[in-house]
Amino acid sequence: MSFSAEEFKQQFPLFAEGENRELVYLDNAATTQKPQVVIDAVRDFYLHSNANTHRSSHRLARRATEMVEETRRRAARFLNAASEREVIFARGATEALNLLAYSLCNELQSGDEIVLSTAEHHANIVPWQMAAQRRGLTLRYVPHTAGVPQFDRLEEVLGERTRIVSLTGGSNALGLRPDLEDIARQLRGRDLFWIVDAAQLAAHETVDVQRIGCDFLVCSAHKFYGPSGIGLLWGREALLEAMPPWQGGGEMIAEVDLYSSTYAELPHKFEAGTSPLAAIAGLGAALDFLADWDRDAMAKHEQQLLQQLHGEIASLPGLRLYSQPQHNLGILAFAPVSGSAADLMHWLDEKDIAVRVGHHCAQPLLRAAGETATVRASLAAYNTEADVLAFVDALREYLALEDSTDAFPEAPAWQV
Ligand code: PMP
Repeated sequence: MSFSAEEFKQQFPLFAEGENRELVYLDNAATTQKPQVVIDAVRDFYLHSNANTHRSSHRLARRATEMVEETRRRAARFLNAASEREVIFARGATEALNLLAYSLCNELQSGDEIVLSTAEHHANIVPWQMAAQRRGLTLRYVPHTAGVPQFDRLEEVLGERTRIVSLTGGSNALGLRPDLEDIARQLRGRDLFWIVDAAQLAAHETVDVQRIGCDFLVCSAHKFYGPSGIGLLWGREALLEAMPPWQGGGEMIAEVDLYSSTYAELPHKFEAGTSPLAAIAGLGAALDFLADWDRDAMAKHEQQLLQQLHGEIASLPGLRLYSQPQHNLGILAFAPVSGSAADLMHWLDEKDIAVRVGHHCAQPLLRAAGETATVRASLAAYNTEADVLAFVDALREYLALEDSTDAFPEAPAWQV
């Protein structure tokens, strides 16, 4: 289907609801709203199909099992995985990264190195810190300027002991989008695992794991119009085969004895316990929903809005701007020169404009810029020009009140 933002927005019942009719929702990097088809799929699962999978073979259990495996096949198509055995359901990007940090680091030796960047979400830092403490590993960071990673200098931190490189596919704090082709080039021929955190990326463009050439990729359904509580871990089949399971329990075993067990085949080896079945039904609907729209046109629309937003905001004195429109993930971050970001957020909230304020789970990045908090406006395909204008008008009004037009303090290096 071609794309029109108005028609797209109509698919989301929250925006048609009384108190939300005027809502300008610009917190999409945190989570997106849900289209009717996703809400229906979650509800219908409980209404018509609720049963646990695998364990039993009655009609409803078979239906639930088939729904889960069909969603896995759709997820494999969504990521262009070579096989659905490469797709593991996790609670989200966070859980998928914890799984990787546990399972991959289990095999590493003391002194082995893991490379991260300063623009990572905490979900792609803390699990590695925990694994490093457990296993005596060393964390290294891509060279950076005032916190902003220079991904083109990744090679400088790669060495004999580098075993894992886990980097963002797009930063939630800045919209910064590394050149994945260039990262692939720098990593080529090296004996290490490359992980891409696509939590933001997958919401804005088609992700093709074979074209990217990484070893593992993670994402969360709630960022791309699906339900919360479900995400995807993709990994190369041979690598997943070789990795030890993470959590133990039902569903992930072949045989259990009193003192040892054997494990199920992929992908179930990594899916201990009862999966969030209704959320998986919702994910299936979200994948179908996305397949129905022209994703290139959606991305173009978001990009146009971002350009417009950037253009308007760049001309406003009194703000330090931290994102560039060419980053292309619909994210614009800034801080008011005077007054607090939290005050500005509350002002916007009063006007029914939802933005995020805080460190955006990227404290190292903000610390390096000398900020404790930024305001982040983040777009989705249902946002319109009217949203952008309402936001900019409200900002103007706030800045006029604050009278913060003079005295720009020294800008950090990555301010644009
Ligand atoms: N990585 C990035 C870049 C993110 O934006 C997020 C969510 N803000 C995560 C990881 C974690 O995703 P989740 O909370 O869905 O597990």
